[in-house]
Amino acid sequence: MSAAEKYLIGNWKSNKNSTDVAGFLKIFAHKCKNIKKIPLKIPKIVICPSYIHLPLSRDLIKKYNLPVELGAQNISPYGEGAFTGEVSASQLKEYVRYVIIGHSERRSNFAENEKILADKAKNALTNGLKVIYCVPDSKIPVPDGVAVIAYEPVFAIGTGKPDTPENANRTIGVIKKNYINTPVIYGGSVTSENIKSFMEKEYIDGVLPGKSSLDPISFYKMLINAAG
Ligand code: PEP
Repeated sequence: MSAAEKYLIGNWKSNKNSTDVAGFLKIFAHKCKNIKKIPLKIPKIVICPSYIHLPLSRDLIKKYNLPVELGAQNISPYGEGAFTGEVSASQLKEYVRYVIIGHSERRSNFAENEKILADKAKNALTNGLKVIYCVPDSKIPVPDGVAVIAYEPVFAIGTGKPDTPENANRTIGVIKKNYINTPVIYGGSVTSENIKSFMEKEYIDGVLPGKSSLDPISFYKMLINAAG
């Protein structure tokens, strides 16, 4: 098994209103109350709510003293200024430590190409944010300096049909040859039932669940099943 730190990164996409967010964190906090007593190696937990729920999430994570960090799902390729509708890195860093860049839904639905993604990564890195950079295969280039690479094959995202742990491990092994010392995680239909089969693979440094991260009980189960 890889010695690198393991990650559990929940991508909430365009789901939840503020009541749902508060409810999730309250239930998750209740479930996590005894976590310090559990003799397990807990992965680094990051949740990525919508922009508008970042302030609420930050306040509740603090209130409940949760072992959770915040990430954004997107970032502007530009700096601060006249870019209507965009959220800049300098604005985001008040709330988050991480940002997802290059998710396949951004690549396909919003025509984000390598140039735009590289600009986003540059802005994030210049502002001290940690980049979670998603790639659909081992051939897509990754900008220098990203904190985590997420291998997310398009066929597995939101389909209920994950890659096999063996193939994910093989592909991540190839990615790791090019990006030595960068943790590489897997995303695509990860659930509390299959998470362990990915986490225990040699090269896989964690997972990035979407749908299964929305429910606090399922997310807690993933956390416990992911713990080494
Ligand atoms: C994702 O959001 O990156 C993802 C992998 O979604 P899901 O777990 O729902 O397939």
